[in-house]
Amino acid sequence: MLSHVGVGSRSELKRLTKEGAIQVNGMRVKDSGMQVNPERDLITVNGEAVRYREFVYLMMNKPQGVVSATEDNRDRTVVDLLDDEYVPFEVFPVGRLDKDTEGLLLLTNDGKLAHNLLSPRKHVPKTYFARVEWEVNEADREAFAAGVTLDDGYETLPGELVILKTGDAAAGIPSEIELTIMEGKFHQVKRMFQAVGKTVVYLKRISMGPLQLDVSLALGESRELTSDELQALR
Ligand code: URA
Repeated sequence: MLSHVGVGSRSELKRLTKEGAIQVNGMRVKDSGMQVNPERDLITVNGEAVRYREFVYLMMNKPQGVVSATEDNRDRTVVDLLDDEYVPFEVFPVGRLDKDTEGLLLLTNDGKLAHNLLSPRKHVPKTYFARVEWEVNEADREAFAAGVTLDDGYETLPGELVILKTGDAAAGIPSEIELTIMEGKFHQVKRMFQAVGKTVVYLKRISMGPLQLDVSLALGESRELTSDELQALR
């Protein structure tokens, strides 16, 4: 349990045990293999209580230039951006954002929750803010509402397009939109715009199911979910 929460390696824990630094319910631990009930027992190391938990849930504001993976030979990953205290939990990103996409990314080690959120049958809505070259119009809104055919022939489910600002090619001004989709095909938002002859030049996810990107998070920062956020996700 102590190695799992990152107090130390097994050999360090053996040493701490020998030194008498570890107590369970006020009693000095003599056997570093002692079984504990983390829900019930009070475990201290050098007098400090160790908080045990199995799962962590982190919301990240993903920056551009990092990949949504746990390891990569070439690029920095979203996991590389986390504080060291989360390393022992072995979190992974729930779904993927492209390397050049910013915004809301959930990271957890709770495989069941991740599976539920990603299940195609659950149709968890995801909302993106995008800048698109050039003029996004009512015809696009209707096309998305009906579902569009992607380059590989896949017909998307209906998507809800909100036009925040209409662009102007002559003036070099992209449109600004929000698009909510219920699925997560590879490069889906970019390919939906491609299907109507337009190009996404900036993409940021702002929500996923009940989870909204915390605007106080700077790019690259993350924080743990609040208990309300976690309850809403379950
Ligand atoms: N759609 C995309 O095209 N890219 C993303 O990163 C997410 C959704």
